[in-house]
Amino acid sequence: MSLAERRLPAYLEGVECYPKVVDVPLKIWHEESGTRCLLVDMDDTVIPYRPKDQQTGEVPEDVVQFFAEGRARGWYDRLGIVTNSHKLNIIKSVVSQLKAEDFFRPRPLRFGERKPFKTLIGRALAEFDVEPQNASMIGDKLPMDILAARWAGLGRIAWVEPLGGSENGASRLLRRFEQPRRELIETTTMAIRGK
Ligand SMILES: [Mg+2]
Repeated sequence: MSLAERRLPAYLEGVECYPKVVDVPLKIWHEESGTRCLLVDMDDTVIPYRPKDQQTGEVPEDVVQFFAEGRARGWYDRLGIVTNSHKLNIIKSVVSQLKAEDFFRPRPLRFGERKPFKTLIGRALAEFDVEPQNASMIGDKLPMDILAARWAGLGRIAWVEPLGGSENGASRLLRRFEQPRRELIETTTMAIRGK
C-alpha cells in the first residue's frame, strides 16, 4: 500500500497545503472559521531562507500585496510573525514591510520556547487577545509550524512549500520526510480551494 492510500494521520487532519503563502484563501478562513488573527512563520514562508549574512529580509512584492489586500478587505485584523529566528534586524524589517502588529521569537537559550512548542503562539494569542480558534497559522515546516499550530488548537493551518531559499542539509532531509505527507493532504485542500 502506498503512503497516499493510507489513512490520514490525526496530526494532519484539517491541515491545508498550498504552493505559496499568497495562495492561502484568507477570505474563506475569515468567513468560514472566523479567523481574525494570522500567525505567520518567517523563513521560507514570507522571505526566502538564506545562510547567515546573505539574508536581505526583503519580502517579495506579491507577498506584501497579499497581506495588504487581506487587511484592507477585513479578512484579518491582527498579524504576528512567529519565528524561531534570532536575526532581529531581519525580523523587524519583515514586520515593517508586512505591517504586522508584532513578532514573537524565543528568548536566547530558551529551547522550550521554540516551535514546535506552543509557547510563542500562546504569547501571541495573549497579546492579541484572541481565542485559538479565531487565529490561524501559515508556515512551511511540518515539525515546527504545523505541529505548533495543532498543539495550540488554532482554527486553520496552512502548510506552504518553502519559498525557494538555499536550505542546509538538515532541511533538505526534512523535505524528503515531508513530501509524502504533503501529498496525503493535497486532495483535501483542493476541495477547499474549489469552493
Ligand atoms: Mg520556515
